[in-house]
Amino acid sequence: MIHIQDYNFKDKKVLLRVDYNVPLSEKFEIEDATRIDASLPTINKILDDGGSVIILSHLGRPKGVEKKYSLEHVLPYLQKKVDVKVFFANDAIGKEAQRLVDTLPSRKILLLENLRFHEEETKGDVEFAEKLASYGDVYVNDAFSAAHRKHASTAVIAQFFPKNKMFGFLMQKEIDNLNKVLLNPKLPFTAVLGGSKIKTKIDIIHHLLTRVDNIILGGGMNYTLHKAMGGEVGASLYEEDMIPVAKEIIAKAKEYNVNIYYSIDTVAADAFSNTAYRRLYYTSKIPKGMEGLDIGPETIMRYREIILKSATILWNGPLGVFELDNFSNGTFMIADAIVRATENGVFSLVGGGDTIAAINKFKMADKFNYVSTAGGAMLEFCEGRTLPGIKSIMED
Ligand code: AMP
Repeated sequence: MIHIQDYNFKDKKVLLRVDYNVPLSEKFEIEDATRIDASLPTINKILDDGGSVIILSHLGRPKGVEKKYSLEHVLPYLQKKVDVKVFFANDAIGKEAQRLVDTLPSRKILLLENLRFHEEETKGDVEFAEKLASYGDVYVNDAFSAAHRKHASTAVIAQFFPKNKMFGFLMQKEIDNLNKVLLNPKLPFTAVLGGSKIKTKIDIIHHLLTRVDNIILGGGMNYTLHKAMGGEVGASLYEEDMIPVAKEIIAKAKEYNVNIYYSIDTVAADAFSNTAYRRLYYTSKIPKGMEGLDIGPETIMRYREIILKSATILWNGPLGVFELDNFSNGTFMIADAIVRATENGVFSLVGGGDTIAAINKFKMADKFNYVSTAGGAMLEFCEGRTLPGIKSIMED
């Protein structure tokens, strides 16, 4: 496999798949440019070597051509961040794109319009991929957050570059950091898992059970586990159909000698609202009409102790409804413990859309060893799945 740092892009036209699926305001201003900034090391390497860059990306989930999802909205920001001219093709394929590709000078950038304006992109259409492939000499995939999709530009296209395909710096960094945690962690290894539903986290829990020493659970998942053990969780979110699965997790944890922790106490409310009446209960004794929305102080103390004694920490999912200030304390205190552990030399990896939103809210995003830019792709990687975007680069 080729490594980007060893490759010389001089005079090459480089097809670079990035993920510029950034949040936009109603006025189409970029609300968070992290993903664009994260692509700059790869872009600059190609330009510095004397190559030209043809940027492929998607934005949102348009149905056909929907101008509100035009990548033209990211053009001014990208132009500001690079020293060279950025051209824009208002369709990813067609005459204009072809003309701009043919006349693209070296050390310049061409941004192609949203690939998802063509349904062939998400369908993984081979002919569409081949057409895109015809624009370049080299294919670089730097869109880790789209690597779990077998789309034309994220996976299918790679077959047209058997000798000239590689990961970009961002994608390589994501894979290296996740592998560091999953394949070669320093022990004790603690996974902190939160979020609303057990259903979406079940595969990751199973995969981690063979790797970690501790699993700390927060968020809505707690209540299904407590219910499975005979507790009363009032009006808290719980998944009836997941009770057998919750029982299986508890049994498996015993089998693998993994300590699994669920919340001891819970801050519950009489409504899903920041101004609702709040009270503290044991998580297994929440009365009717009260809904658990955050972990309580005893749980926080216990979880912090475990985190501070760990050597590797993987965190995905908020521990409570952090969006509501009155129920954000649990997530904040756990984030703070992970930051402290990181300062003491622990390796911490954090990821997932809501988790990133939480650490941004707490202004802590730069205080972990690695923050993954990916949501679904990171989860699938942690579930032990083969991601099409990775496989297509690695296979011959
Ligand atoms: P997920 O997408 O499954 O990772 O869930 C993230 C969401 O879970 C966030 O928006 C949180 O507000 C929410 N969440 C966390 N704890 C709870 C809880 N106890 N009850 C309901 N929702 C929760």
